[in-house]
Amino acid sequence: MSDALTNAGPAPAAPLDFIRQIVTDDLEAGRHGRRVHTRFPPEPNGYLHIGHAKSICLNFGVATEFGGLCNLRLDDTNPTREDVEYVDSIRRDVQWLGFDWGDREYYASDYFERMYECAVTLIRNGRAYVDSLSAEEIREYRGTLTQPGRNSPYRDRDPDESLVLIERMRQGEFPDGAHVVRARIDMAAPNINLRDPTLFRIRHAHHHRTGDRWRIYPMYDFAHALSDALEGITHSLCTLEFEDHRPLYNWIIEQFPDLPGDPQQIEFARLNLTYTVLSKRKLLELVERKMVHGWDDPRMPTISGMRRRGYTPEAIRDFCARIGVAKNESLIDVALLEHSVREHLNRVAPRAMAVLRPLKVVIENYPEGQVEMLEAINNPEDATAGTRQVPFSRELYIEQDDFREEPPKKFFRLFPGNEVRLRYAYIIRCTAVIKNDAGAIVELRCRYDPDTRGGSVAGERRVKGTLHWVSAARARRAEVRLYDRLFSTEQPGIDDSRHFAEEMNQAALETVSDALVEPSLAEARPGTTYQFERLGYFAPDADGAPDRPVFNRTVTLRDSWAKIERAQNA
Ligand code: ATP
Ligand code: MG
Repeated sequence: MSDALTNAGPAPAAPLDFIRQIVTDDLEAGRHGRRVHTRFPPEPNGYLHIGHAKSICLNFGVATEFGGLCNLRLDDTNPTREDVEYVDSIRRDVQWLGFDWGDREYYASDYFERMYECAVTLIRNGRAYVDSLSAEEIREYRGTLTQPGRNSPYRDRDPDESLVLIERMRQGEFPDGAHVVRARIDMAAPNINLRDPTLFRIRHAHHHRTGDRWRIYPMYDFAHALSDALEGITHSLCTLEFEDHRPLYNWIIEQFPDLPGDPQQIEFARLNLTYTVLSKRKLLELVERKMVHGWDDPRMPTISGMRRRGYTPEAIRDFCARIGVAKNESLIDVALLEHSVREHLNRVAPRAMAVLRPLKVVIENYPEGQVEMLEAINNPEDATAGTRQVPFSRELYIEQDDFREEPPKKFFRLFPGNEVRLRYAYIIRCTAVIKNDAGAIVELRCRYDPDTRGGSVAGERRVKGTLHWVSAARARRAEVRLYDRLFSTEQPGIDDSRHFAEEMNQAALETVSDALVEPSLAEARPGTTYQFERLGYFAPDADGAPDRPVFNRTVTLRDSWAKIERAQNA
């Protein structure tokens, strides 16, 4: 494989944010050997979510725009929480988003040996030591934000003794917590991260890649800085919570000037979205407590959930470009994400007709047994999408909502005596309403005007309402899952007094099992999202079968963001 980065296609032109400005300046000043090399470093302890998409678009985007490279690095230093299932999902999701890491797929665990050597070097140079305090004592000695820490009694241990101990730690001679390797920096540093941070700890745990080879594992800060340096990273982009770790990051990098990279850490604000939680820990909890149907439940803010729901990579990349990157924390309206989804789907989604809550219509003056094929436009936004044939027959179904026996004002749909157009078909008039013994409407009797076919006749009669419909003879029964936002509060979890899961939207999934869809949809497979005319966007789900398709509602047609924007511009 080549080192060339194939880009995700034409992304919307990004303005020069503060990170791209730094990179521009670095290139002009000739820093980092005029190279740009970034990485996306997820920990394989969960599935990627829309917050990660922001980081992916940023890291791969910057690399591509500046002619550089971006690595995929699995940051697998915590054996107990990680799994190959997560590794596979991460690779699939980054690829699906449209990014290519070429042959640069790396694992922090591949560097364990070199990280160990680095720790040994630090001990030799008097820059690290093996500490034998307990975890509790270490915490106690560390001090607080207002009080300096105290030196461990083992801080001045002879380096040779530390070298023997680290080797024995590695051999698995000690139980978890018996010793740790610590950097020897400054126990009085105002920044707590510099108070002799732990570099390696004992963990008798099986690792999904290295098996039982290691009994000690590097800490995040040590592993992350060394991985960046080993891979020749130039710009190490991370979220703001790591700002206080930057002095430690720099300290570690400075200890190893011979490594390929001299990376610079730059922090940006993480994505926060309304009505959404973006924390793998919380998402894992929802999965484990079975409050959702897995990581790819279409209600989840995960990439895999969004894919299953019918979101497109283009829409997600467009959203990431719109929100940009900045240094200050902000909360993004989830309506903006939905807006990006609608905008892209409006351009590309094939149209089809489906009836969610069917009401039978019999056209009394239409010949019994006749089926007529009518031409329907696949996508009015895309002339190349062509047309398809939709069967029309004497018995049809329309949406229950599209009929009122006693219509309110401005109801332009069907009611007794009124005329509407059936999309791509004829104008019909309602002549009678048939009810069951309980008084519920079970069928409408209508008459059609044979001269109004397709609505293409010149000088045609105009009617105010156009309804979607399906042929009773040819429609397929389908299950439709109507999804809504997973949480009913804007910032779930913001209130510490209750558990975030209590704020879940109990109506986030409604299953309609007796929907009817036009026959062409029997062929629908996951990967294409459709617009059901007048209803919204719907994605075929892998749970379905040709005789019983299943569709997930991606998003309704109502665009609350467009409304917000119009109000702002007014
Ligand atoms: P979480 O907070 O969901 O557990 P994490 O930061 O622990 O996420 P990692 O796997 O370490 O998850 O993240 C990989 C990369 O994605 C990191 O560089 C991290 O900064 C970035 N990232 C994670 N969440 C967000 C977010 N909400 N917005 C932007 N970037 C994010
Ligand atoms: Mg993390």
